[in-house]
Amino acid sequence: MLRSNAHNMLRKTVTRFVNGEIAHHARKDDLNPLYALENTKSLAKLKILGMRVPQKYGGSGRSLFDSVIVLEEVAKADASTAVILQVQHNASPVYIMMFGEEKIKAKFLPQLVSGKILFSMAQTEPNVGSSLNELTTTATPSGDYYVVNGNKCMITMGRNADVHLVYVRFEDDNSIGCLLIEKGTPGFYQGGHEDFLGLKGLDSGELVFNGCKVPRENVLLKGNGSLRKMLQLFNGTRVGLASISLGISEAAFEESLKYAKSRTVSRKLLIDHQGIRWKLADMAVKIECMRQLVYSAARDISEEGFPGILAASAAKLVCSDGAIDITNMAMTVFGGYGYSKEFPIERYLRDARGAIFLGGMPAVLRNAIGSRLKAVG
Ligand SMILES: Cc1cc2nc3c(=O)[nH]c(=O)nc-3n(C[C@H](O)[C@H](O)[C@H](O)COP(=O)(O)OP(=O)(O)OC[C@H]3O[C@@H](n4cnc5c(N)ncnc54)[C@H](O)[C@@H]3O)c2cc1C
Repeated sequence: MLRSNAHNMLRKTVTRFVNGEIAHHARKDDLNPLYALENTKSLAKLKILGMRVPQKYGGSGRSLFDSVIVLEEVAKADASTAVILQVQHNASPVYIMMFGEEKIKAKFLPQLVSGKILFSMAQTEPNVGSSLNELTTTATPSGDYYVVNGNKCMITMGRNADVHLVYVRFEDDNSIGCLLIEKGTPGFYQGGHEDFLGLKGLDSGELVFNGCKVPRENVLLKGNGSLRKMLQLFNGTRVGLASISLGISEAAFEESLKYAKSRTVSRKLLIDHQGIRWKLADMAVKIECMRQLVYSAARDISEEGFPGILAASAAKLVCSDGAIDITNMAMTVFGGYGYSKEFPIERYLRDARGAIFLGGMPAVLRNAIGSRLKAVG
């Protein structure tokens, strides 16, 4: 697939920055849940943080394809940072750009560009994950406010994001929509840290709303058809997430290739053993397939500005499964050292496994693809 000089330049700039400022954090340890948040803020220096924000609000107005290149490179160095960046590129701020009133755009978007604030995106509840139409967090009208009650869990940056885009059920019209809730709003509590197997830098946490008064102007979307519009935005998110799985896979492959060319077993380099060479060949082929799917989905944008459901779900499904296979193969190439914390392979495997939960489980993606097939068939 053709890549322009501008894309190559963007990739080089990001790679240089992440290798200098981000990779070593991930390598050192992944026990400090705040390191990825700090990494993400540092990307404001390169204008990467708000790169999808229109120029009118201080951003660079760049495309989903540009974002995919950046996320892929950041994920090679550190997947947690890439996931947080992905929320800022292709999730919450996109809702503001599409549905926010002018006052809301002018208030929040320039602050994101400068790295002053970061967003989370909160859909999941303790009893509602895949089935978003069953959400129970409510927003009840009261004068100039909506009063929000309910709990969200497993929210990336749940404990430290400055602004949360929260999916709610509006009690006045029973629609599912979303609104923005700022850190420190009375009645809003950011709960304890939720620890996962991998993606340790996500700073995941619970959000609790107990009579939380949210100004009406913070409502981004409500009314008939809102959930459908919100699900359409997921297509961009899924392509961004697919590129993160691609980046993790590329990192695992590059490390494996280097290792196979330096480690000697039975008086031969690993790469000269046919079993290992074929494994590396399989990894390379799989990565090329993943790359084509991601890039083609990121380029194939509808008039509304999003990739199609089929292309986006296919890219996410193939890449998140593929990353698990590839990091697993990398662990085989490395032998016991792959399982050791001395090398990054075990972290790649843990992160690849975590990426599958983001942006819709495989069953949800298969359902989306199946519904599309039924509709066109
Ligand atoms: C690292 C990490 C980060 C996360 N970050 C966020 C975040 O920032 N914001 C947020 O809102 N959430 C976040 N989540 C939550 C994530 O979105 C949910 O875990 C995911 O949507 C699945 O929901 P669940 O865990 O409740 O599983 P469930 O919905 O209970 O599903 C359980 C199992 O049933 C399967 N299943 C579900 N529906 C069907 C069906 N119709 N047919 C067949 N099988 C089905 C699922 O695939 C899954 O295997 C995060 C989770 C993780 C692990």
